[in-house]
Amino acid sequence: MIFKRVLQTALAMGLAVGTSTLHHGSVNALEPKGECYVLGVGDSWQGPTSANLSQCAALAGEQSSAAESGTGVSRWQDVEIQAKPDGSYAAYQAGQLLTTGFWDVEKLVDDAVDDIDAFWRSEFEAREWAYESPGRVQAYSTRIRTACGRSVPDNAFYCRVSHSIYYDTGLMRDQFNDIGDFAPIVIVAHEWGHAIQAQRGIFRQVRSTFRLEQQADCFAGAYVASLKANGALSDEDAEEALDLIRALPRSRTHGTPRQRVAAYQKGFDGGATACLG
Ligand SMILES: [Zn+2]
Repeated sequence: MIFKRVLQTALAMGLAVGTSTLHHGSVNALEPKGECYVLGVGDSWQGPTSANLSQCAALAGEQSSAAESGTGVSRWQDVEIQAKPDGSYAAYQAGQLLTTGFWDVEKLVDDAVDDIDAFWRSEFEAREWAYESPGRVQAYSTRIRTACGRSVPDNAFYCRVSHSIYYDTGLMRDQFNDIGDFAPIVIVAHEWGHAIQAQRGIFRQVRSTFRLEQQADCFAGAYVASLKANGALSDEDAEEALDLIRALPRSRTHGTPRQRVAAYQKGFDGGATACLG
């Protein structure tokens, strides 16, 4: 899903394969940033670096935030990395699209939030239930105060008091790097599952934390299945969802990876109805 959308965005922005937005001119104006180089207008690239792609993408992204055109450009050896304001980047080698990804994981999450929200709104409307979107989905990178107490590093959680979801940007970036761009989306979909439980009064009915966590995994599966139904789920994304769940540590409250995969699969196969039953 993500890959497809990024590619479409890249094409819509005129970054089509075979074209180059690079200008050639003075190399002296190149600004070294760590192991990567950021190009100013009129610059061209010369010389190797040992930078990796994500570092370069992050730098191009910084430039994107500052640039009037909105697109930041960096280079790693003969790879040109173009970062766009929506948080995505595309890397080109000899004019050919090499890969795409995100330099800003918060923007990736923001897009997913809109999609997950639309999914649940339509599920609720189909059942003639009132739906209220979570108040906010807030990223944090330091310990922040929430209505449910201080945030914990490397965590994502739903807070009933503020009907909001909070997540550590570092956690999302790690899952993104380790597993792929779909991993943060599954994390948000799970937390959204808790927001659904709050709205349906399930917290009052179900006292077992384990059962609540299983149901949240189930709800995440239901959302991912909706992407598949829309033709918006790549095989890669589907696999990343399972990889993420399998990689989670076993815990008394959340269950074993095997139990979590089973709960997720229940939602994936049977939709929200299977989770609610
Ligand atoms: Zn949970």
